[in-house]
Amino acid sequence: MDLTKRSLLKGLAVIPALAAPALMLTSASKAIAQPAMAGAQVPGYYRYRVGEIEVTALLDGYTAMPSGFVIGYNEDTAREATAKSYRRFTPGMVNIPVNGYVINTGSNLILLDAGAPSLVSPTLGGLTGNLAAAGFNPADIDTVLFTHLHPDHIGALLNAEGGKAFPNATLICSEADWGFTHSDEVRMASPEEFRGMIDLVRQFVAPYTDSKDLFTGEKELFTGITSVPLPGHTPGHTGYAIHSGSESLLIWGDVIHFSALQFANPGWGVVFDTDPVMAAKTRSAMLDRASADRMAVAGMHIDFPGIGYVEKSGDAYQHINAPWMPA
Ligand SMILES: [Zn+2]
Repeated sequence: MDLTKRSLLKGLAVIPALAAPALMLTSASKAIAQPAMAGAQVPGYYRYRVGEIEVTALLDGYTAMPSGFVIGYNEDTAREATAKSYRRFTPGMVNIPVNGYVINTGSNLILLDAGAPSLVSPTLGGLTGNLAAAGFNPADIDTVLFTHLHPDHIGALLNAEGGKAFPNATLICSEADWGFTHSDEVRMASPEEFRGMIDLVRQFVAPYTDSKDLFTGEKELFTGITSVPLPGHTPGHTGYAIHSGSESLLIWGDVIHFSALQFANPGWGVVFDTDPVMAAKTRSAMLDRASADRMAVAGMHIDFPGIGYVEKSGDAYQHINAPWMPA
């Protein structure tokens, strides 16, 4: 068939004629109640295969933070960057999602970061529910692994009685981050609000102290999972490179907190960075490497499921979501 502009227009002209009977049907079925809006999102889990390894992204939730938490923030630049990434701009506020990941290597079932406690914000704390929705039993998780020990990464660790929510899990994190959060010297030298953060972390990891394993530097912790030191956000902040066959995924933790702002302005940080200069250096190096190597990367604060790629454009970067994949 010769699909010319004329034949297209001719086709379009038929549409109102088709629409008319449909409208009549709508008005004829008045007895049926109007459909109610769902008003809630679908469960927050998503499967992603890395060769033989199955990764399940879990949504903990979203929250808004005052823009004062962003180091380097400038409202005009932020407005422009937000519009460019098709997000809604709210003056004085920035949106941040929180994700965790379950990694099934075939021999180990690992929860990598555990979301935020709901007491931080009522729109957070959904990880436990999404873990169940994804079909996991907390008793089957053998490892709780951490990119770092901040309150938005430890939320699901406790059950209602304050004990282990993952009764059979060993806690694994960097020696530097365990030391940092458990040093009374560091705690005393911290400002009041940071002391509260440290106390919260200590409370949530406490039941696991009898079953913990600490590591340093770059190390293959499980078959196909290697720690990648990414210091700055915290002293022991760590990403995990997952390899299987010819495929790989780097889960980089908190290299990015604000997708709308930091891909476009990699120099911008967050007030929770222990060493903001080092964090910015790590971020730039990571974005450079990810874009040059066309790496698949995932992050705890990238819009759910947080898996994608980094593209360089001039001095800035942009995030490209990974295409949907069947399980
Ligand atoms: Zn975080």
